[in-house]
Amino acid sequence: ATPTALLVGTGRAAQLGILIKGPQVLESTRTIDTVVLDKTGTVTTGQMQVSAVEPAAGVDAGELRLVAASLEHASEHPIARAIAALADPAPVESFASHTGFGVTGTVGGRAALIGRPLWLREHGVEVPSGPAPDGTTVAVAWDGRWRGTITVSDPVKPTSAQAVSDLRALGLEPVLLTGDSAAVAHAVAAQVGIDRVVADVTPADKLRVVRDLQAEGRAVAMVGDGVNDAAALAAADLGIAMGTGTDVAIQASDLTLVKGDLATAVDAVRLSRATLRTIK
Ligand code: ADP
Ligand code: MG
Repeated sequence: ATPTALLVGTGRAAQLGILIKGPQVLESTRTIDTVVLDKTGTVTTGQMQVSAVEPAAGVDAGELRLVAASLEHASEHPIARAIAALADPAPVESFASHTGFGVTGTVGGRAALIGRPLWLREHGVEVPSGPAPDGTTVAVAWDGRWRGTITVSDPVKPTSAQAVSDLRALGLEPVLLTGDSAAVAHAVAAQVGIDRVVADVTPADKLRVVRDLQAEGRAVAMVGDGVNDAAALAAADLGIAMGTGTDVAIQASDLTLVKGDLATAVDAVRLSRATLRTIK
């Protein structure tokens, strides 16, 4: 009877838009007490809009747009998709993507970097720290010098706040985890009702946060969509991928939410609890 009930649960899950790697996944869902949520593309839409392009003194805005758009053309990060739309791309040589940090490559002879300001500083670029921005800022540099800053904004999904409150009602503590700045992370957390925030993390830190919570004795679900989430998704007791996210995230997870909607994560927890009650 047990396998049958699990199979029925799996079929019901598919109808709800939840793809499960195997019937045993429903069992691990039962013990979860903490849910770690990636910000970009999970709690927010990931459909970034460029809100400001600010060239450094003496830099032409058109040149800044061209270099940034060309580099981001080859990246699949949500930030990249917004910035790539700023100009028709020029060819890029020696392109490289540095997951969770940014991208590098040579555009028309300019050896360029674009990504989180801290990462550019680690590469010896002097990036001025401006006033707390109203959005996520990425810094652009070429030939060793800071050339400007681009700000992108990313709205919270309309269903996220309700989903967070439902997860809490099911006894799960939500934690927001992001590579983005603390300022942006806290603004999003306030909008959806999350108290615990870990920001400015690298993909390796994301894995560590999951492991630390497990070391505290928690059973952790991690919800994410990016390449940067894959290691944390695989380490979590229950890895949940957004179906709208990257293949790497989906492959690393136990369960995929086809529509990329957090409300379906709530359905998944409810369904597994109901299925396991049937078995007992
Ligand atoms: P999140 O954890 O919210 O999904 P990421 O770990 O993917 O965020 O990215 C963290 C930060 O790294 C971003 O806020 C951005 O500053 C920078 N970054 C990552 N990828 C890119 C990219 N392709 N272009 C520019 N900046 C990037
Ligand atoms: Mg993400």
